[in-house]
Amino acid sequence: TTGAAVMSCRDVSVRYGASVALHDMSLDMHRGEMIGVLGANGAGKSTFVNALAGWSRGAAAVSGEISLLGRSIARVKPHVRFRSGVALVSEGKNVFGRVSVSDHFRLIRIPAPEDTRFRVTADEIFELFPRLAERRSHLGGQLSGGERQMLALACALLSCPRVLLLDEPSIGLAPMIVTELLQTVRRLVDRGLPVLLVEQNAEAALKVVDRVVLLETGRKVLEGGREVAGDSRIQDAYLGKR
Ligand code: ATP
Repeated sequence: TTGAAVMSCRDVSVRYGASVALHDMSLDMHRGEMIGVLGANGAGKSTFVNALAGWSRGAAAVSGEISLLGRSIARVKPHVRFRSGVALVSEGKNVFGRVSVSDHFRLIRIPAPEDTRFRVTADEIFELFPRLAERRSHLGGQLSGGERQMLALACALLSCPRVLLLDEPSIGLAPMIVTELLQTVRRLVDRGLPVLLVEQNAEAALKVVDRVVLLETGRKVLEGGREVAGDSRIQDAYLGKR
C-alpha cells in the first residue's frame, strides 16, 4: 500500500427512507491491494459497493465523499463512473442471454491506453479463463453459473478498470471453482489492480485478501489484516450467531 489511494470514500452514508443502511463508511483502496468486505446478511455490503459504483437503487439517498484518483465522483452517474474506471461485477448480472461469449467481448468499448488503467488483451482473458475459450461461441444464457461469473469478470477487465468491485462472486459456485476464481482475481491484484471483494464466504476471502473490513448493521466495526480472521466478531458473523 504505497502512494496515494486510487479510490477513496469518506463518511459515506446510505439511507432507504427513514432507515440508514450504511453509516459513515470511510475506506482507501491502493494499487495492488485486495480488500475484503465481510458481514452477515443485511449488514450493508451490497449497499456499500453499489454506492461506490453509483448504482444505489430505489429511494436510496447517498451522502459523503467518493473520489477516484483524487477527483470527486460522488455526484457522477453510474455509466460515467464505469467509463472512468469503476467496474462493479454483481452476482448474476452483466451477462446477456442471447449474446455469445466472443460477442460480449466485441461489445466492450476499450478506452485509450493510459498507465493508470489496468489492461488485459482478449488472449490473456482466454488464458485466465480457459473455460471461456472453450465456450466462446456459446450464448450467455447457455453458460453455467460459474461460467457466467467468469464472463462478467472478463468483460469488466476488458473495460480497463482502475478499480474492480466484486459483489459476492462466489455465490452458487462449487468450492473448487470459488478457490480458482479468487486465485485468478488475486493474480490481477498482483499486477496492480485494486479489488474490493464483498464475500459471504469469509474463509475463502481471508485466503486471498490483504485487508478486511467487517460491517455490522451498516457500520464498520473492524478493519485489519488477515490476522483478524481469529477475531470473535468475524466468527460470529459467519458461524450462525448473527
Ligand atoms: P446480503 O449479504 O444478504 O446480500 P448485504 O450485507 O449486502 O446483505 P444490503 O443488501 O446492503 O446487505 O442491505 C442492507 C440493509 O438495507 C438491509 O437491511 C436491507 O434490507 C436494506 N435495503 C437494501 N436495499 C434496500 C432498498 N432498495 N430499500 C429499502 N431497504 C433496502
